[in-house]
Amino acid sequence: MTVTADAVLLPAVRDFISRDRKMLIGGAWVDAESGRTFDTYDPSNGQRITGVAHGEAADIDKAVRAARIAFEDGPWARMKPNERERLIWKIGDLLSERAEVFGQLEALDNGKAATIATAVDVGWSADVFRYNAGLATKINGDSVNVSMPFAPGGQFHAYTLREPVGVCGQIVPWNFPILMATWKIAPALAAGNTVVLKPAEQTPLSALMLGELFEEAGFPPGVVNIVPGFGDAGAALASHLDVDKVAFTGSTEVGKLIVDAAKGNLKKVSLELGGKSPNIVYADADIESAVAGSVAAWMFNHGQCCVAGTRLFVERPIFEEFTAAVADAASKAKMGPGLDPATELGPLVSQEQFDRVNSYIQQGLADGARALTGGTRWGSEGFFVEPTVFVDVRPEFSIVEEEIFGPVVAALPFDGEEDVTKAANNSIYGLAAGIWTKDISKAHRTARAVKAGSVWVNQYNGFDTALPFGGFKQSGWGRELGNSAVDLYTQVKSVNIAL
Ligand code: NAD
Repeated sequence: MTVTADAVLLPAVRDFISRDRKMLIGGAWVDAESGRTFDTYDPSNGQRITGVAHGEAADIDKAVRAARIAFEDGPWARMKPNERERLIWKIGDLLSERAEVFGQLEALDNGKAATIATAVDVGWSADVFRYNAGLATKINGDSVNVSMPFAPGGQFHAYTLREPVGVCGQIVPWNFPILMATWKIAPALAAGNTVVLKPAEQTPLSALMLGELFEEAGFPPGVVNIVPGFGDAGAALASHLDVDKVAFTGSTEVGKLIVDAAKGNLKKVSLELGGKSPNIVYADADIESAVAGSVAAWMFNHGQCCVAGTRLFVERPIFEEFTAAVADAASKAKMGPGLDPATELGPLVSQEQFDRVNSYIQQGLADGARALTGGTRWGSEGFFVEPTVFVDVRPEFSIVEEEIFGPVVAALPFDGEEDVTKAANNSIYGLAAGIWTKDISKAHRTARAVKAGSVWVNQYNGFDTALPFGGFKQSGWGRELGNSAVDLYTQVKSVNIAL
């Protein structure tokens, strides 16, 4: 083990990464069928953390068979909702008990600050498990008052059942590894499905540690299977003919491949994809909180958020003052490795992501944009990029149109409500939007006018477990979180009885 930060690691984390990690299939920790492993790296210094079993199509197939058996024949299929509730709740409790361990492991693998990973990624995951534990006992059909015009005189009793979809393939990205896994696993389990999860190749560790909790909590074998691997393993899962549903979070480009791959058996598909979200600051906003919120909007998680507010629209009279304040606040963020408790901004997740973000920055400069701050790498090792605020941009610049997934924002001036809603909606994406104003009517009007799945007023990143989340336009299909997640993981059966 060659991680430089070894000295600060918690014993449980050190122990976890001291040997290669296996995959979870049918309740057993197993090597890949090929016997191969791949390495995972600390993005703050590029050093190897540990090896992980390299899942491929054969392993996905094995995991799907285990999930199928667990769904059709295992005790899970016959378990009562309140028994499922207790098991799912236990995962929330175990996560809370070990929040620091999970948080540190996440920080090591992903690069994010351990303090944030512990509070947000792991803390919220625990909350999502508990919320969905509660849902397990509240998934109901309806009693339906039918007229049956073709059977005059008859009497009928009709109702609907909400049944699990079956075996669910779930493919998650590296930006919030445990949280994205949780958003998908928890509602699938609440509804009685079984799961094959494929974590991102950059960040497989927290999902594998989460896998241990299912064993410890007493889940029947095969209910949750975890197969780490690359895009080919994801593709094998999305195209597998015995998978009933695939849920994906990641790039819009891969989302389209998932739709194609799912065609074989017309499995159900839900997608959480990219974004280029507008953050709209009216001149009458509370400037101090709007500056702080607007910085967090694009800088949180080093900009590696699908909802990042990376198109900052500022009303013209306050444009210069506001963008200067945003640049000043961004430049003061304390950068460093995620395991340093003082760190606010960690590295990007990988060399690939580092190169991609830097090439966008270079393109922005070449197009004629001006960086008020940033525009370059930070330090001499690891994948750090300075937070970068661009002005003098035009709507057709790639830094304005495309998802960068790094700490880079493009600021544009606007003149009034109509102008800004038109500009804000000029995107292939529609994931989120921020609005800052003291005028309540303007806030509501703008919230209605923007095409986005989530709208946050006088705040940004206003997520909650109970609030549905998902995208308009090319930002996705379906809504996760809240009661909406039940729709993704159940199917409705109509039953009509002649009395
Ligand atoms: P990606 O979409 O390629 O990867 C996400 C997940 O999909 C990973 O688990 C990956 O192994 C898997 N995958 C890759 N190819 C697949 C395929 N053909 N079939 C099935 N699964 C497949 O994302 P990335 O390459 O890691 O990042 C590229 C860009 O995607 C980022 O720069 C960012 O713009 C965007 N992204 C968005 C989100 C989001 O939450 N919306 C998350 C991660 C990345």
